[in-house]
Amino acid sequence: MKSLTIKSLTTKRVKAKPFSQVRRIFWETRTYIFLWYLAVMAVFIGLSVPIFSILILRTVNARVEEELTEELEAFDTLIDEQKKTKEGLTHENLPRFLKYFLSVRLPEDDTFLITILDGDFFSSSPRALPNTVWESTELMSYFLELNKSERNRYKTSDPNIGEIMYLTRPVIAEGQIRGLFVVLHTTAGERQEILESEITVTKVLFIVLFFALFLAWIASGKILAPLRSLSTTALAISESDLSQRIPVQGTGEMAEVAMTFNKMMDRLEAAFTSQQALINDASHELRTPITIIDCYLEQLEPDSEEQKKIVKLLKDELNRMNRLVNDLLLLAKAERPDFLNCEIVEIGTFTEELYTKATTLAKRNWSLEVKGTGRIIADPQRLTQAFLNLAHNATKYTTEDDVIGVGATLSKGKFYLWVRDTGEGIDTAHQKKIFERFERNVNGRRCEGLGLGLAIVKAIASAHQGWVELKSQVGIGSTFTIVIPLECLERRG
Ligand code: ADP
Repeated sequence: MKSLTIKSLTTKRVKAKPFSQVRRIFWETRTYIFLWYLAVMAVFIGLSVPIFSILILRTVNARVEEELTEELEAFDTLIDEQKKTKEGLTHENLPRFLKYFLSVRLPEDDTFLITILDGDFFSSSPRALPNTVWESTELMSYFLELNKSERNRYKTSDPNIGEIMYLTRPVIAEGQIRGLFVVLHTTAGERQEILESEITVTKVLFIVLFFALFLAWIASGKILAPLRSLSTTALAISESDLSQRIPVQGTGEMAEVAMTFNKMMDRLEAAFTSQQALINDASHELRTPITIIDCYLEQLEPDSEEQKKIVKLLKDELNRMNRLVNDLLLLAKAERPDFLNCEIVEIGTFTEELYTKATTLAKRNWSLEVKGTGRIIADPQRLTQAFLNLAHNATKYTTEDDVIGVGATLSKGKFYLWVRDTGEGIDTAHQKKIFERFERNVNGRRCEGLGLGLAIVKAIASAHQGWVELKSQVGIGSTFTIVIPLECLERRG
């Protein structure tokens, strides 16, 4: 059995409880926003790196193509110029011309100018060619046999060379194809540069992502802060005082929500106040004539048996009316936030008192089943009222020989207060219905009474954030248990 220490009942803890829920929702929403933002940013980064690579590769390729074309144009120009000289371009001066061309053209890095003459490698600039393009390779063999202009790419497996982009131009002297001019570029250098830029961009994007997420976290907190204070205030209002309002700041959406909420509270408070006033006025107006009639009836001295009977009947009906007014008033009050006057209740002593009070209701085999230990925060008056309603019912539906057991306990975070009887029991079909107002049709018959007793018990349990459990079997008896979660009791306090 769990007992609640005084320490755990301090006002601070009691106040903190409802807001923990608000805080949880706040954190959930904030995390939700944060995760969405993270997902958007992840997609953005995931797409931007490959897009960046594709764009930069295109730019680099275009630049290389331009370079190669430039070299080819330079070759063509020099050939034309040579042809225009007196000497012209002959079989004899062709090797000299090619050597001269290669010596005056200094190609960019990773670009190579190759000349082939009469089916053999003639010369190149720079002189040292990468292995992959050297004489013995497949590509060089291809060039040796080629005798036309071509723009193409050649993939190598050498990581230091990468893909080769090349342009060719047949070398024609005296109307005869004598060889081939090749300008080629190895792309490994560019690829390496692209890779390095990709790594740098990725690093930068991750740093940006980190700061963006950090800012998103702060921003979402700031955006949600008014909502959090709104719901905290709203919770405080609904739990205590209907006259409180949410402070309206600024003119944005939050201010609109606060204003709408405040307007709703205005209407609610007005409806509540007028309902309260109506009930108060009606009960007051009803109580006065009831008291007056009661006084007159007391003074009446009936002459005959017939008159005595009538007076008794009137008194009974008047009592009923009085009870009805009181019960309705109580049920109306139960809706109000100030219905309960909570205080620390010592369960053991409280249960003993309840037991003593119950035993005065009627002669039955009363038994105090469990006294319970520990303390709770609750309204002892209201709980007594609910308990006595249950005990009174138990006496109504039992005989002198029956047992009525009562008890209270704290277990697994809940407070239990029960009344058990070995009376007539309630059929399953009516076990839920009997908690409704004016419901008194049970086991196929209409019972005496107003049918408000159990509705009051339920209202008192609900005001404590609890409920009423019923276990009953016709012919065996019933057990009514008021169950109140401790958390709610603490909060109520
Ligand atoms: P009332 O105020 O008229 O007593 P209640 O709301 O207390 O009405 O009870 C509603 C109905 O539930 C009663 O009319 C009765 O039939 C049934 N009831 C309540 N308590 C018991 C019980 N302990 N045993 C059997 N029937 C019960």
